[in-house]
Amino acid sequence: MSETTEKPVVSNFIRNIIDDDNANQKWHGRVATRFPPEPNGYLHYGHAKSIFLNFGLARDYAGECHMRFDDTNPEKEEQEYVDSILESVRWLGFDWGEHLYYASDYFDRLYAFAEYLIEQGLAYVDSQNADEMRANRGTHLEPGRNSPWRERSVADNLDLFRRMKAGEFADGEHVLRVKIDMASPNFNLRDPVIYRIRHAEHHRTGNQWCIYPLYDYTHCLSDALEQITHSICTLEFEDHRPLYDWVLDQLMPRIGWHSQQIEFARLNLTYVVLSKRKLIQLVESGAVNGWDDPRLPTLVGARRRGFTPEGFKLFTDRIGVSKADSWIDMSVLEDCMREDLNQRAERRIAVLDPVKLIIDNYPLDSRETCLAPNHPLKPEMGKREIEFQRELWIERDDYMETPVKGFFRLSPGNKVRLRYAFVIECSGATYDANGHLLTIHANYLPETKSGTPGSDSVKVKGNIHWLPVHTATDAEVRLYDRLFRVPHPGAEQDFILDINPESVRIIQAQIESSLRDAPAETRFQFERHGYFVADRYDHSPDTPVFNRTVGLKDTWQKR
Ligand code: ATP
Ligand code: MG
Repeated sequence: MSETTEKPVVSNFIRNIIDDDNANQKWHGRVATRFPPEPNGYLHYGHAKSIFLNFGLARDYAGECHMRFDDTNPEKEEQEYVDSILESVRWLGFDWGEHLYYASDYFDRLYAFAEYLIEQGLAYVDSQNADEMRANRGTHLEPGRNSPWRERSVADNLDLFRRMKAGEFADGEHVLRVKIDMASPNFNLRDPVIYRIRHAEHHRTGNQWCIYPLYDYTHCLSDALEQITHSICTLEFEDHRPLYDWVLDQLMPRIGWHSQQIEFARLNLTYVVLSKRKLIQLVESGAVNGWDDPRLPTLVGARRRGFTPEGFKLFTDRIGVSKADSWIDMSVLEDCMREDLNQRAERRIAVLDPVKLIIDNYPLDSRETCLAPNHPLKPEMGKREIEFQRELWIERDDYMETPVKGFFRLSPGNKVRLRYAFVIECSGATYDANGHLLTIHANYLPETKSGTPGSDSVKVKGNIHWLPVHTATDAEVRLYDRLFRVPHPGAEQDFILDINPESVRIIQAQIESSLRDAPAETRFQFERHGYFVADRYDHSPDTPVFNRTVGLKDTWQKR
């Protein structure tokens, strides 16, 4: 390893393996990983764990991480998915450089390797139909039975396989299997199928092929062709490792490379579903508004929600990498986003449920400037001006006609500070005929202006935010919450029925006028409310739209 390699901050068992390999010169210092999604859906939070792991190792060991599309299934794959996957990996901050690969680019070579296996007597064309194959597969207790076609001659096998490729047969008429052991306790070794006939158009190879290699055969060979050193996958592939090794052992004379498969525990997160199949169901049923709906645990959804790549980095560091399956609580991810946003997001004011406050002793046409810090702990982020005037917006629930115990905000006779401005004393409120609160009245104490000498001469317990009616701006605010109301959606009933009916509420709010010009995707803390982002697509100066990323505190503990 070169001297400049950074020491990893958080170690884990995979880093230990790599350190050992480097110490033993196993790969001569080479570290090559890969991130191999199938382009059959959008990436989700679980993929982020794999991306940070694979690209992170490559970066920390001065190696390379290949971006590879595992595109062997023509029916479910699309260019749209490829584009979005690349965009999400880039968004998380990674770059594959020249290492962009497609398993479909190897179809010619995979085919040649299959002919080689046939010639070696290691593969045969099976002509049993699907039911017969299933019946002969055996069970956990019983060994499988050899196919009647298992002992076909090499010449017959080659002839049939070539004719499969030439399109002479219908889907399902024949398959190519490797000859391992129908009695193996491991099902993956009971002569697994490596090629099947599919007369289907592929998103990259079009109609060039009507036979397609299966995943277990394709994946290990793609790794070896790219000279991957550490092929990291999730635990459910542990039982496939003997097959992975078998295929690479047989093809060692042709490829000369045997990557090492290493399994780690996938991310299981509460309050979401992390499976492309379920995500597709949510999108197609209209339960959410498309793949980038901010409630969906896709990476495009996360981006639109206002989650940050740095927050995901913090999260993956915090949860670590292990070999034991476990559940991570959603609050861990939300806390990471809060922690990151707390550092970086400028503060602004938004009144989400506005009601008018009239300062009766403030002159009608007067205006004065108040200064609000953009970040309470970072003076270098500067201050901005907010205009104080007679008519202000405040939050409806900052007023209570008859205050309950512990309520220190506005009620008749009570004093509070208007943040960055004056202490006011409430004199009462007016109501409409239906008893709805219309306006609140108060008088201000001129000697208490924030930032002036003696401003804190009057002590108050409440401190509320406000905006000037005259210059505040209308905005649409989308209050997103968790998509599911239970930690394990689908555990008790169809997961669709576990959707949180309050996972989004759209309201009209008042915001600081400067927020109109915030570029899309700028993130802010709206004081006392949480973190918000200017919507990536819908926000504009004429129609400001902000999405709630996450509240200031975890409110789910109490529910
Ligand atoms: P899904 O089950 O959602 O369809 P997948 O495993 O089929 O996911 P792939 O496109 O095959 O999705 O995944 C690409 C890579 O991401 C694989 O290496 C896979 O192991 C990894 N990955 C997928 N889901 C998770 C997860 N929840 N946690 C960690 N890694 C994951
Ligand atoms: Mg998969």
